[in-house]
Amino acid sequence: MIEKAVSDYCRRSGVERIDLKLFMFDMDGVLFNSMPNHARAWTLTMADFGKVFDEKDIYLHEGRTVYDTVRLFLGPDFSKERCREIYELKCRHFDSLPKVQMMPGAIDVVRAVRSAGKDAIVVTGSGQQKMLSHIDKYYPGLFTTASMVSSDDVVKGKPDPEPYLMGLKKSGNLLPTNAIVIENAPLGVKAGHDAGCFVIAANTGPLPDSMLFEAGADLVYPSMPALAQSIGDILSYIL
Ligand code: CA
Repeated sequence: MIEKAVSDYCRRSGVERIDLKLFMFDMDGVLFNSMPNHARAWTLTMADFGKVFDEKDIYLHEGRTVYDTVRLFLGPDFSKERCREIYELKCRHFDSLPKVQMMPGAIDVVRAVRSAGKDAIVVTGSGQQKMLSHIDKYYPGLFTTASMVSSDDVVKGKPDPEPYLMGLKKSGNLLPTNAIVIENAPLGVKAGHDAGCFVIAANTGPLPDSMLFEAGADLVYPSMPALAQSIGDILSYIL
């Protein structure tokens, strides 16, 4: 499975091998088990505006910037300032929910990558400062925080490839074939794929695996612990 995915990727990208230097990790649903809280907090926020919707919609649009999310769900005419106010309301709902936990297995994946001598950065559509500050607390010294990409660094956001292209740029103008993206959501997978990177998806949410493959995932695992079990094989095959 790994061998075929890598050779298909190399053929598609016109390279002989993945000259691996960097791993780019998405945050919500990959490093932290935060998506149930995000989905709940958005649902409560929409309810404040009299809108009822399925929490699954949040998973379908996971990865979008706050502006895109508000305009998509509440209407296209919301100003940036109004979007920011609504986002603050959503953050208050988020903070009222039970504390977010680390995603099981995620630290094993990050440690394996770092032990193999590869850099790791976080590329997220989130701008939630509390969550961002948790990265160094829960993953101490594992990520190059100077090269991190959050919603503050991008204009378009996922599913546009911009965040991952920005991650490559901030990491020293690397090529897409120097990096592997770890994602959990269709739009994030699409962003990594369209940036030209090899994309590994861990399906930590309620959507079917087929959506991740259709979005362009090269490999799909059912969970982060499952990926943690295979990351050694992936690294030894590529390196
Ligand atoms: Ca995610």
